[in-house]
Amino acid sequence: MQKPLDQRRFIWIIDDADKIVHVNDDWLVFAQENTAPQLTASVVLDQHIWRFIQGQETSYLYRQIFRRVRAGKSPVTFPFRCDSPDCRRFMEMELALLPGDAIQFTAHMLREEWRDPVDLLDAPRDRSGEFLKICSWCKKINIPGQGWGEIETAIAALDLFGHHPMPRMTHTICDSCRGALRLELPQESGEQLNSD
Ligand SMILES: [Zn+2]
Repeated sequence: MQKPLDQRRFIWIIDDADKIVHVNDDWLVFAQENTAPQLTASVVLDQHIWRFIQGQETSYLYRQIFRRVRAGKSPVTFPFRCDSPDCRRFMEMELALLPGDAIQFTAHMLREEWRDPVDLLDAPRDRSGEFLKICSWCKKINIPGQGWGEIETAIAALDLFGHHPMPRMTHTICDSCRGALRLELPQESGEQLNSD
């Protein structure tokens, strides 16, 4: 079922040293709504953004994107998913250069769909020692032998609800998002991404 469109704009700004220097009120409210109540202004402001980006490949890609934005290729826009356990959120991010090599991130909702709650995305839950690869950009999960699929498919295919506690997730990038970002970042296409 589709939810009414959330019209808010979630904005944060990093300075030339990648420190978070501004988050808007909508961003803070969104964090509170999304099992990230620890992300208050006093926690995020003046911190390096890298503290909040999980996964080696994801960090690598953000570094490439920042480099591109700061080289004047701005704005850079890409779709991403920011799912909660009971909702698929299709969002879009725009990165734009500000004076002094600062970068403004603006995220907004494209659409949201309710779903049956998926415990795997419930942040406070304990994890076992196992790792599942999740794409940081589209939130698909790598199902061994089957490739990248939606989280519900992974739960069924891997019998994840039969596992207690749930496996941990390691953040990486799936093949189609890697391809899409390569199109956004043509001058970096010769560099190799770590395969994690
Ligand atoms: Zn992906």
